[in-house]
Amino acid sequence: MHSDHTVGLTSTWCRPLYCSPLTARLLHRRLQVPMCWIRPLEVGQSHVLGEEVTVTVTLLDSNHCPGSVMFLFEGAFGTILYTGDFRYSSSMQGEPALRGRHIDRLYLDNTHCHPEQALPSRQLATRQAAHLIRTHPQHHVVIGVYSLGKETLLVDLAMEFSTWVVVSPWRLEQMRLLELPDVFTSEEGAGWIRAVDVAEIRWDTLVTWNTLHPTIAILPTGRPVKVTHPKIHTIPYSDHSSFLELCEFVKWLKPCSVIPIVKGGTCQTYFQKYLSSAPQALPDFQIPKPVQESVQQENKRKALEPLHLLRRAAHHSVPRGVVYESPEESTENSEELTGVRAPQQNCCESAFSSKEGHTCCHTDKEKGQEALSGEQPGAASAVSQAPAPDEHFPTGFAEQYLLTPLNVLKQNSSQKFDKLVEDFFRKGETS
Ligand SMILES: [Zn+2]
Repeated sequence: MHSDHTVGLTSTWCRPLYCSPLTARLLHRRLQVPMCWIRPLEVGQSHVLGEEVTVTVTLLDSNHCPGSVMFLFEGAFGTILYTGDFRYSSSMQGEPALRGRHIDRLYLDNTHCHPEQALPSRQLATRQAAHLIRTHPQHHVVIGVYSLGKETLLVDLAMEFSTWVVVSPWRLEQMRLLELPDVFTSEEGAGWIRAVDVAEIRWDTLVTWNTLHPTIAILPTGRPVKVTHPKIHTIPYSDHSSFLELCEFVKWLKPCSVIPIVKGGTCQTYFQKYLSSAPQALPDFQIPKPVQESVQQENKRKALEPLHLLRRAAHHSVPRGVVYESPEESTENSEELTGVRAPQQNCCESAFSSKEGHTCCHTDKEKGQEALSGEQPGAASAVSQAPAPDEHFPTGFAEQYLLTPLNVLKQNSSQKFDKLVEDFFRKGETS
C-alpha cells in the first residue's frame, strides 16, 4: 500500500475496495478509509464476484511490501494476471493458482526492466548493508525508508547487530500493526540504528547528525539516486523484480501477451520469445456485452449526478487504469499517508451501515459491476478514479439520516438505502 497507489483514499472514500486483509487493516487504520467500503479477500483463495456476469479473482502474495498482492482475474474476457508492484520469487512457481495456467494477459511490474541493470537478491543486499555497517564502527546508522516496505531489512539488521531500531511513534504503531518482531522502539537513544523517512536523508541532516555523533546513512533502493553527502550510501535492496527475475517469471508463466504497468516501459521486446502462441481467449480484449451494458448504465447514472460532483472529480484527477508514474521514486513517502486527515464525512458512515459493514450504498450487483468495469483494471492497485463526494452531499444526507429514529433505520434494507440515495440525488437535480 505505497502512497503512489493510494491517491484519493481518505475518510471520504465511498466505493468498494478489494484488497488483502492486511492492506484492509492499513487502509482503515492509516488512511481512515471507512471499513464498509473495504472488501478484504483472503490471499490464495478464489473469490467469485458479481451476479449476472461473474468474475473469479484470486489474490496472490506479490512479495513486494506487507499486504501487497497480485490479482488473477478469470472470466468471459479470459485470464489476466495483474502483478502490481512485485518481486518475483521462484516460490511463486509453486502457487496452485498459477501452475500450468493459461494466462491471456500479464500486466507486469516493469520497474527494473533494463537488461543492463543488475540487481542482487534482497538477502545479498542485506549482507552488503551489514558489511557497510561493520566497516563503520562507532557510527550511528540512519536508514531511509518509505512509509511501508523494507521492514525485513530493518529486522534482519537489528538481529544481526543486536540493537533496537529507533523509529517515530507513527512508524512504531505501524510495525505493531504489521505484527513484526519486537525490535522497534520509539525511545531516542535506545538503539544505534534509526529508520527515518527517505526524505530525511539529505546533505543538511547528515551534517547535523555528524556534529552530534559520527553517522552514516543508508538508502536501500534499486534505483540510481543522486548522493549529496559522502556519508550517504546506497544499497541495491529493492522490492521490485530484477530484469533476470522478470525474464524467469515470464519464461515460466508463458502468457499470451505482456503489458508493462510503469509508464514509458517498452519491455515487451525482451519477453517476445517467451510468450505463448496459444490463441488468446479475447485477443482484442473486448469487454463482454453484459459488462459493457452495465458500464454504460453506470456512466449514464454518473452523467445524471449533480454537477458539483463532476467538478470535484476533475480536481481529483489521478492516473487512470494500469499505467501510473514510476513508483517509489518520489511518491512513496509517508507524507500522503500521514497528512491525510479529512473530516469524517462519507455516505457510508453517515448512513451507519449494518455491522457486517457490506451493505452501505451498494448492492451486491453493483459490487460485481465495479469489479468488472473494464475501465478499472487498476482495481488491482488501490488507486481508482471515483470522485470524492462533495461536502454538501454527505452532510445534507447525514442530517436527514440523523433525524431519523434508530429503530426506523434498523428496518431499512440496503436496497431501501440505495433508493433513498437516488431520491436524494433527484431532489438535487430539480432544485
Ligand atoms: Zn510499491
